[in-house]
Amino acid sequence: MTAPPIQNCGKCGLCLSVCPVYQVLKQEQASPRARLQLIKAFEKKDLDASPLLKDLVSQCLMCGACKVVCPSGINHYGKFMDMREQLARSLPEPPAIRSLVYLLAKEYRLRMGAGLARFGQRLTPKFLADKYRIGNIPVHRFPTMNAAPFRQTLPDVIPARGIRRGRVIYFVGCATQYLFGDTGQATVDILSHLGYEVVVPKGLTCCGIPMMFHGARDRAALNMAANLTAMADAFDNGPCDAVIVDCTTCGAALKDEYPGLMDTLNRRPDPALSGRLDILPPDIHTRIAGKTRDILSFVHEHQTHLEMRPDLSPNKVIYHAPCHTRNSFNTAGTVTDLLATLPCFDYIPVRDTAACCGGGGTFFYEYPEIAAKMMAGKLCHARDADAQYWLTDCPVCRINLHGSLSEQDRLTVVHPVTLISRGLDA
Ligand code: SF4
Ligand code: SF4
Repeated sequence: MTAPPIQNCGKCGLCLSVCPVYQVLKQEQASPRARLQLIKAFEKKDLDASPLLKDLVSQCLMCGACKVVCPSGINHYGKFMDMREQLARSLPEPPAIRSLVYLLAKEYRLRMGAGLARFGQRLTPKFLADKYRIGNIPVHRFPTMNAAPFRQTLPDVIPARGIRRGRVIYFVGCATQYLFGDTGQATVDILSHLGYEVVVPKGLTCCGIPMMFHGARDRAALNMAANLTAMADAFDNGPCDAVIVDCTTCGAALKDEYPGLMDTLNRRPDPALSGRLDILPPDIHTRIAGKTRDILSFVHEHQTHLEMRPDLSPNKVIYHAPCHTRNSFNTAGTVTDLLATLPCFDYIPVRDTAACCGGGGTFFYEYPEIAAKMMAGKLCHARDADAQYWLTDCPVCRINLHGSLSEQDRLTVVHPVTLISRGLDA
């Protein structure tokens, strides 16, 4: 179904009430409805591409909250993505963003980049790591790269333990692959414990969403082709109960963006993809999209099969709900229900659980002052809760939350699966 045009905006202002950028800046030009009007003016050729226009359009976390509340059904997310693509053609991204897109476009570049980063982390003297920041985050508070790319540490198929209940494909995104192997190992352990055979396809790469956010949808399409090719065999070589993601942003790529991208490519074929998509089963992207599940709602659905250690001491935890968990998967309530139910958690609800942290892919780097203001209230509530763990199911939120805490804070930031897997009865 085609989304309603921007002309349908009734200027009701509901999107302003949920937009984290508007909530910080309190300026109409920073609101979702103003961005739509700028895009409308650009489409009508009343406005040219300019650095100011690009800045106003980019000053957005792509959180999707405006789309969810809009009574006119406007697809802000899609409009912003299209606009970013058009602007990127005439106004190049800054060098750091271009380098990131370049790295994410090929798995071997990512692997080399991660290896160099790990080497650099070991060699950087502490006084330098303390002194420099990337966006808001002191260099020394960035996560240590995995000792080895996570998928390399796994067999292609991890057998189910106990009663076999089915078979799942695990889409391991680039953050788990290179930064947060603990999340990946916990995800595999839980799925296997639940009785699922876990297939980790060879040849996966970055889902491509960071590239789409920076207007490089053509390059993201190449990543999509690599991922669909990697998953197609596994998907059709046996029953598949779910395609599991541990990051809801990767999940949004598989579930929402790939079908949209495939529709566009069917209408406007890209020569760079010739011979890559036409060899795939024609409906593979929609079948994968239909099976995509985030690990926490999968665990919620199967929690009666979780066998937890009887001597468990619950961990005092608070939760930060990432944008894609709230606005794409709509599962933040399911996650908090899981945290309130499982015996490994003593869940403390805090204010601002669902407020954006300002991570937003590279937003914390591009707009550190705005991101810091978003984080300020969250930090106060988090500290007041006196918890041991701050849980979140997005790797960028995890980097941003941990990076915003100080050495004095006792909070450890992890994905909820880490504590669930530690609590499993062996
Ligand atoms: S919520 Fe929708 S209709 Fe209301 S101002 Fe925002 S874009 Fe316009
Ligand atoms: S996607 Fe999020 S940050 Fe961007 S305009 Fe909408 S509500 Fe604001």
